[in-house]
Amino acid sequence: MIIDSHVHISLYEDNTKSLEENRDFLLKEMAKNGVNYAIVIPDNIEHLIDIADLKKAIELTKGYKEFFLLGSPQIIQRGSSKVHKYRELMERGIIKGLKFFPGHDPYYPTDERCFPYYSICEKLNLPIVFHTGENSNDSKVSEYNDPKYIVKVAKKYPKLKVIITHYFWPKIEYCYEITKNTPNIYFELAGTADPEVLEKSGGIEKMKKVLEKTVKDRPNQVIFGTDWPMCSIDKQIALVRSLKISDGEKEKIFCKNAVEVYKLQI
Ligand SMILES: [Zn+2]
Repeated sequence: MIIDSHVHISLYEDNTKSLEENRDFLLKEMAKNGVNYAIVIPDNIEHLIDIADLKKAIELTKGYKEFFLLGSPQIIQRGSSKVHKYRELMERGIIKGLKFFPGHDPYYPTDERCFPYYSICEKLNLPIVFHTGENSNDSKVSEYNDPKYIVKVAKKYPKLKVIITHYFWPKIEYCYEITKNTPNIYFELAGTADPEVLEKSGGIEKMKKVLEKTVKDRPNQVIFGTDWPMCSIDKQIALVRSLKISDGEKEKIFCKNAVEVYKLQI
């Protein structure tokens, strides 16, 4: 079984004309690649026509057992004022955790406006996910999501499951080193098989080494994800399959860890 813990319903890659069509295309891509379930990450900017926000994502995934959702709080626009809304959505099982976009938006993981969200996730034993690393067109964004801040959050909330996605590319070795002694940090792999990410991060062999070390340190805390439609599902599956780790560890990455961490009922 494969769970892709990081997809978007978006028209960014120009492969479909509407978000409904994009969802259907995603289902086909999942079936083609043997992916049974996917966690859809809504954009934190609302009402865009080319990427689903939470309201639209709920509408698009309603009735589909293949899909789960995260929430994406609007820290800049709304501060901490929506904590109750997200708490209720998590308690009702409609969303399985929260994704934060420091860098996309100008705030740091250590921003006090985020703290109430971290507290409720810690209380509900649901994870938070941090977007990290460069954007293809803007390397400055990574100043905001440097894992040195994420380590501070993880230490302040020691029972909180803190997930890093994109491995702070291109500084993957730095990200490994700075996080390695913080036990409640998790890694979700979206983007790590992308050709541009690999090229800028020092190549596929280096990426494999870092991921192998990470799995060795945290066999229960590495989670499969792709960032579809920006990144292809098959390349990401091939990267995980190529790692020098046991079949049991691969099975954990592909599905078991996501089930545990996001408390998925499947
Ligand atoms: Zn993404």
